[in-house]
Amino acid sequence: MLEELKQKVLEAALEAERSGLCKHKSGNFSALDRVGGRMAISPAGMRREDLTVEDVPILSLDGRILEAGARGGPSSEYRMHAEAYRLRADILSVVHTHSQYAAAFAVSGKPIRPVLFEAAFYGGCEIAVAAFARPGTEELAKSIRGPLASADVCLLKNHGLLAVGGADIGETLRKAAYAEDVARAYFLALTLGGGREPDAISAEAFEGYRRDRGVRA
Ligand SMILES: [Zn+2]
Repeated sequence: MLEELKQKVLEAALEAERSGLCKHKSGNFSALDRVGGRMAISPAGMRREDLTVEDVPILSLDGRILEAGARGGPSSEYRMHAEAYRLRADILSVVHTHSQYAAAFAVSGKPIRPVLFEAAFYGGCEIAVAAFARPGTEELAKSIRGPLASADVCLLKNHGLLAVGGADIGETLRKAAYAEDVARAYFLALTLGGGREPDAISAEAFEGYRRDRGVRA
């Protein structure tokens, strides 16, 4: 069932591992068949290097397993992924990471300001922090409603980062990677400046940048 969708999820999971964005089995990935209301999501607790297409389960958006993975159940964060798909019709892929600098801002409860042009790839906006909730819970799923209503990336308090996008899950993974790059530059700039806020890039400058380069956001 939905072999192509499973393949996309598998490739995103492997790329996240290879690039160092996700380590120690943390992070999860999904893609949606909008017509059928079915998502392919990475399985829980498996070494990503060992994953095959058969390991990727298919779930309905209310959490029913339509096709089990060959070894192990779905990611414990399936509720959060399903919530993102219910929230906005344009969302067709979801990436969740615990990348280190983004996690530091998530711990501090401090939004990540758009201090590098890489932020253009996720809309050029500040990355907001969702309200605290324990991992894997319905409360965590609900916490993303506000921050993701009008943005493609948000922080999960004391936890990590969530990125959403269209059918190209590789692009959604790139949003998560760029958010980590911006978080690192922002953290280092704050440190170099002794805590003083560095200048963020203006909406006008992002607009011109997108126009010049044909970047969609
Ligand atoms: Zn997590």
